[in-house]
Amino acid sequence: MKQITVISGKGGTGKTVVTGSLAALAENKVMADCDVDAADLHLLLHPEIKEKHEFKGSKKAIIDEEKCTLCERCIETCRFDAIINDQSAILIDPLSCEGCGACSLVCPEGAIDLKEEVTGEWFVSGTKYGTMVHAELEIAQENSGKLVSVVREKAKDIALQEGLDYVIIDGPPGIGCPVIASLSGIDIALVVTEPTLSGIHDLKRIIGVCQHFGINEIYICINKFDLSISNSHQIERYCKSIGIQAPIKIPYDEKVIKSVVQGIPYVEYSSNGVGDKIRELWQKIAYSG
Ligand code: SF4
Ligand code: SF4
Repeated sequence: MKQITVISGKGGTGKTVVTGSLAALAENKVMADCDVDAADLHLLLHPEIKEKHEFKGSKKAIIDEEKCTLCERCIETCRFDAIINDQSAILIDPLSCEGCGACSLVCPEGAIDLKEEVTGEWFVSGTKYGTMVHAELEIAQENSGKLVSVVREKAKDIALQEGLDYVIIDGPPGIGCPVIASLSGIDIALVVTEPTLSGIHDLKRIIGVCQHFGINEIYICINKFDLSISNSHQIERYCKSIGIQAPIKIPYDEKVIKSVVQGIPYVEYSSNGVGDKIRELWQKIAYSG
């Protein structure tokens, strides 16, 4: 079983268009949408939820008023100014509390506990293309890296139990903690980029992260390569210079947007040049190693 993460340096590069098409092309796989802050793979795959689970991603301090003697040691200790004395009681602002637990350690009365909070949900769903594991983080909640790990772990369990060949992971944009959680321990990285200077910059950063994690199989796909032939050449030269095989180049086509609006993976929407290129990309990955 191989784990493949589709990743991009930032949002809007066409990553989900590529992942949605791979979902339609690959057989014997489970999909994992790890873009938990702004999930959109469901718009193409139309999952029907079969299992729903709470995600407890953070802890908050709570005070037992009956034990509290208003000594204020917790207030002095909290680095996040999350605790106040409103004269009659010590109060904790849940929005400011980072759940570090320092207040609980210093409280002489044992009046402070840390309580796990539900900050999101994760799902196991059925789609026309097979099982999909996905999640939603509540607005303004953090710890999406931990939720990514939960989604990946569940998808991997399903693949192992059902004897599937692939876990295809739609990774989050950027290079933050959730991206690292999407890349650690995988077999193949597919980086979707665009032929702009910022795209090239982001591509180099994300390849650096992949190499840091020892991912040897890296594929590059330049989306809308014909919008800047010179920048696409620059990406090709860069790939050659670091020993990565030549990128697959997907041309610009306004039908791509129409396929997204209609909620259809592109390879099922049209079989023109874009679809051919995504098929070529999948063939390369599927028959690698
Ligand atoms: S340290 Fe404990 S006892 Fe003192 S004010 Fe805070 S909660 Fe109350
Ligand atoms: S858990 Fe940490 S952040 Fe929250 S109130 Fe206690 S000391 Fe402050």
